[in-house]
Formats: sequence, structure tokens, C-alpha cells
Amino acid sequence: MKKPAKKISALFILVAGISLLGAFGLAQEKPLTVAEQSQFKATSRHADVMTFVRTLQRLSPYLRVETLATSTEGREVPLLVIGNPLPLPPASLRQSNRGIIYIQANIHAGEVEGKEASLMLARDILLSPELPYLDKLILLIAPIFNADGNERISPESRKHQGGPEQGVGVRHNGQNLDLNRDSIKLESPELRGLLENVLLRWDPLLLVDCHTTNGAYHQEVVTYSWGLNPNGDGAILAYQRDRMMPEIEANLEKKYDTPAVGYGGFRDFRAPEKGWETFEPQPRYLTNYIGLRNRFSILDENYVYADFRSRVRGNYNFLRAILDYCAAHLEEIERLVAEADRKAILKGINPSEKENFFVEYEVLPLKNPVTIHAYETEVIPRGEGQRPEIRATDKVNVQTVPYYSDWVGKRSVRFPYAYVLGVPDSEILAKLRQHGLLVEKLAEAATLEVEAFRVKEIKSAERAYQGHHLNQVKGEYAVETKLFPAGTLIIPTAQPLGGLAAYLLEPESDDGLLVWNFFDRYIIPQWSRELQTYPVYKLVRPVNLAREVIR
Ligand SMILES: [Zn+2]
Repeated sequence: MKKPAKKISALFILVAGISLLGAFGLAQEKPLTVAEQSQFKATSRHADVMTFVRTLQRLSPYLRVETLATSTEGREVPLLVIGNPLPLPPASLRQSNRGIIYIQANIHAGEVEGKEASLMLARDILLSPELPYLDKLILLIAPIFNADGNERISPESRKHQGGPEQGVGVRHNGQNLDLNRDSIKLESPELRGLLENVLLRWDPLLLVDCHTTNGAYHQEVVTYSWGLNPNGDGAILAYQRDRMMPEIEANLEKKYDTPAVGYGGFRDFRAPEKGWETFEPQPRYLTNYIGLRNRFSILDENYVYADFRSRVRGNYNFLRAILDYCAAHLEEIERLVAEADRKAILKGINPSEKENFFVEYEVLPLKNPVTIHAYETEVIPRGEGQRPEIRATDKVNVQTVPYYSDWVGKRSVRFPYAYVLGVPDSEILAKLRQHGLLVEKLAEAATLEVEAFRVKEIKSAERAYQGHHLNQVKGEYAVETKLFPAGTLIIPTAQPLGGLAAYLLEPESDDGLLVWNFFDRYIIPQWSRELQTYPVYKLVRPVNLAREVIR
């Protein structure tokens, strides 16, 4: 009896030894993220991310690491470029027959599963012999967009969130700014880096921005949105809303066993039948901003009360379902983007009176209702003067209700041929250039008939928001004939970003530079009580002018 037993244990040791070798070999081939190593109790620090990325580089020839930005506190924000072969400088991309997809995570550094999921995704693509997606796509991944916020990891952050128990970072960056409110004013190195080193350098077809939700209670681990602003390209917006996202959602459920639902919250939690509603359409939110640039964008919001492992898995599966879709529909996506740019240019060449720019919106329900696997909630009163706490019960409450996520224009103004900047303000010029707008200057003085906006009222919010006192203005439009000196800046709308130019410069734009205080000193005089005319004039009709491009 003893001998065979010995044989078995010798065999066991051999097998164990081989599997140990195998495990070691696997560990060499497949580095694990901090989330995976810690059984989803912890998330990666900046140094962990950099180590992981360097390890991937040692294992794969298909990864290059660029710098997206240097944070306020001096950290490198890495941009992973993944392609087979690795793409040459951006100018050659148009001939490469591959689409560029940009995945960004950790813009709010308490919402960390995208960081782990995007690193896992990079690894699994690079180390898979089939190199999935890379015949069709070039991937850009920024796993740790808000590096400074990430380094403030503490179990005290987002305590309501389902882990990781060893803590997460904070929402804001090193300047105390919310980076998902900075797309218009571009005050952070992260957003300026995104513009310069991703959007203008690589011009991705699609941006995916990964977050964690904050509010509603439901079973779906993944929620999502698309670029919501109706001033963006209507065809891309409708395609994302009606075709792309429903198909990705269905595939996510069928192929990856991950239920998803459009992002939102109940309009009235006491009466869920009134509908499920998405968020605001302003382009200060990054995904809405990308829509204004005529590109595809997807907001990923993972369910805050799901445990960390489930959130990482959900986020990972969502990214795969998105890439599945993009690889299968690349030509369609590219055609829509090219068409959107072409339409934008045509719109500005000779804008008719019908060309509108929306300055007020309303949200309407989609044609089809949405089904949410919600939980019944209970209302727990708190102390006097405090809002009651809303807490979920275990009872599932399936609701099929209208989905208010179709923002449409309610009031519009005329879309012009060009904007004329009546003040030589280098800060405003720099801002326009950072966004990638074509700006020209008059080569000689010109007398022009323009539309002026005479400000009658300007209300600045009392409470500071992102370091600003946001403005609301009222005024009247008037036709004026004005002499503009040589050197006056002209922003033509006949450019792919013509809609963005209008958003930044229209006086009544709800998220333009006027709102963000760039023009306060011109509008509000210090020496009299009378408000001044807004110093951006609209050239309504085309006019030929001697002008040169600002470099
Ligand atoms: Zn967020």
C-alpha cells in the first residue's frame, strides 16, 4: 500500500511542479493589475499604472507610450498607443484604413474601475496571439487621466461606493477642478493635453469616458450616454442614439452577460412612472463636447452600489462590446464623421436664414420606453431643515417608463458666416486655438456691416463654480457698421469646428466663453454703470476680405 502511495505523491509533486511553472509562466505573460492582485480590495496608484504599462511594453511590440499631459503636481499622464503595426505620425493615418478609438478613465479619480478595466483590456489585447481588433482599430488608452486626484487614495473617499475597501482617490485634479466641467474653458493641464495630444494630434473617431454613477438605485451594472447637445451633428447623434447604443447594449447582455441601461435617474423617485431622465446637454461635460466636434462619444457610468469586482468586469465588458461594434461598423462610422465635417464646412460657407444655433433646449422622451430594474426605495427623515435620505430596499421594482434623453432646440439664433473679435485679447485667441479652431486676421482695415449684441443685463452667479461666477446675459441684437483695424481676428464658421466656434462665441450660448467670464471686463465697465456691447460681432453674410491665417 505504501509504495503506490509514494508513487502518487511523486506524481503529484511533478504535476504540481509543472502547474507551478505554468502559473509562473502565465504570471510572466500576464501581469495582473492591483485590483486583480488584491482580490479587488485595492486600486492602482500612479506608480502601479506606470509599472504595469512598462511591463506590457517589455512583452509586446504593439504598444507605444506617449505623454498626454503633465499634471499640476508633475505626474506624467500616460497615453497608450496600441496598433499593429504601431502607427506612424498622425499625418499618415488617413491612409492606414484603421479607425482610431480613444478610451479614457479616471477623470474623476474616485471612480476607478475604468482605470483597472482599461489596463486589463490593453493587456488582454496585446498578449492575445490573435491581437483582437487591431486589424481594424488603433486604440488610444488614457487609464489614469486624473493622476493627481488618484494619488489621494483614502478609504474616506466615496464611502457610499461599493469598494474597493482600501480606498479611492478624489474627484478633483491638482487644481481643485472637476475635469469633467473643463471642456470649454480648458484651464487644466489634463484637458489642454487632451486637446493637443489626443484630439488634435490623433483625431479619434470615438471617445469613451469611464465613470461611476452617483444616484439612482438599479440592478444594471453599466449605464451609458452619448453626445447629447443638439448643436452637434444631427446624423451622428441620431445614429448613436437609435442604432449604435441599442446594439451595443443588446450585445453586452447577450455576449458578455452584462445588463446595461441608458444613464439616468427617475424624474420623481416617488412616482417612477413619470420617467427616467438623462443629464444636461452642456459641452462642459466632455462627452457632449466631443459631439460638438462632430465625433462619436460614449459616457460610461458604472453602478456605484455594485461591488468593485462587478464594476470592473462590467466596465471591461462594455469596452469590449464597444470595440466589437466599432470593428464591425468602422466604415459606417468613418463615413458619418467625414460627412459631418463636410456638412459643417458647407453650413458656414453661405449660411442661410434657416441655419440656426440653439441657445435653449428641452428634453423629450425617446420613441421607445426604457426598462429599468430598479429597487423600491424608502424615505428616511433626517433632522429639521435637512433633506430626507432615500435608501433602496431589496425589493426589485421593474419599471418600463419614458426615457427623457432627447435634448432638442427650443430657441435659436442665426448661425453666421464668421465671428469678428473686436478686442485684441490674446487669452481668448489662445483659447480658440487650444480648441483647434481656424482663426484669421484682417490683413487691412475693413468697414463691415455686423450684428452686435447690446448687453442689457448681466447676472453673475453669487456662488463660485469651478472658480468662476457663471454669467447669464440678456440683450438686444442690432445691425451696426463698424471699422475694424488691420489685425482684427476673424473666426470663419466654414470649418469642421464651426459649431464649436458658435458655442464658444455666441452671446447667448449657455456654455460659451461669455458664461465663463472671459468677457466680463469688456462688458462691465469700471467707470460707468452702462453695460457695453459684447465685443464679438457676427458677420451674418459672406464677404470677401483680405486676411491671413493665425499660426
Ligand atoms: Zn464621474
